[in-house]
Amino acid sequence: AAAVVPPSGEAAAFKLGFIGAGNLAESIARGVAKSSVLPPSSIRTAHRRPDRRAVFQSFGVRIFDSNAQVVDDSDVVIISVKPQAVKHVLLELRPFFTEEKLLVSIAAGIKMKDLQEWSGQRRLIRVMPNTPSAVGQAASVMCMGEMATKKDEERVASLFSAIGRVWKADEKYFDAITGLSGSGPAYVYLAIEALADGGVAAGLPRDLALGLATQTVLGAAAMVGGTGKHPGQLKDEVTSPAGTTIAGIQELERGAFRGTLINAVVAATKRCRELS
Ligand code: NAP
Repeated sequence: AAAVVPPSGEAAAFKLGFIGAGNLAESIARGVAKSSVLPPSSIRTAHRRPDRRAVFQSFGVRIFDSNAQVVDDSDVVIISVKPQAVKHVLLELRPFFTEEKLLVSIAAGIKMKDLQEWSGQRRLIRVMPNTPSAVGQAASVMCMGEMATKKDEERVASLFSAIGRVWKADEKYFDAITGLSGSGPAYVYLAIEALADGGVAAGLPRDLALGLATQTVLGAAAMVGGTGKHPGQLKDEVTSPAGTTIAGIQELERGAFRGTLINAVVAATKRCRELS
């Protein structure tokens, strides 16, 4: 499926509040402010710790005294506390939600029906981003609640487009999404480290090997994303008969490279189901 296209115009003018001014909230707020989706003065949060307040204040976010004030003065409220804190926070904020407000949860593993039950809010969107949000390269998937409108969808797509790419999917896919894009960065970290080790084993200095491994993964991903070609076709295009690349691929196949990656995604999905 194609990524959701970020909107412009009317959907862009609204007040955005964060409940939980942590790492992911910071990435989103910075991305949103930097990409001019919203001016920082339209973003608000509250935090008990002065150091977190200072971080958000440093790029123009408004700081309020309480979570309730944040909800009260926001059109879109992003719940960005740790999953174990979501129930308590939503029960506490329940009286401050109104039909006009959109509630967005990014808490991993917390289902729409629980969000709805705890908050009393049916205008809901659940989003599963991933950690490359910190460098503006998140893969985020959003799932629409029953009362969420087209405008809500556009607003949330514009927010998460500021930190990467956004897709829309049914909630039944969220465990598998966690197994793929949620856990996936770690699989690729392992691959980059191993490629660098291979370079060192083949005689390269460590710094050069790690730099080349990192850029090669980045470049290959950009080729798949940028050319629109199937990865199998791109592979065929770089494997000449009896050449070096096919010799490397033969070794990967001997080590069950593809089967191992497939199993990793399936195992992480299964574990996600067990935990939720
Ligand atoms: P985090 O840095 O720990 O942020 C959570 C923040 O919420 C902390 O600053 C915490 O403050 C604050 N907090 C706790 N209780 C609160 C309350 N009652 N009222 C207001 N603030 C409160 O965590 P994170 O990595 O940003 O993750 C946030 C959420 O995003 C999680 O639910 C996670 O599952 C989800 N998520 C994150 C990523 C990612 O890329 N990081 C990806 C997918 C999903 P203290 O530090 O003082 O406790």
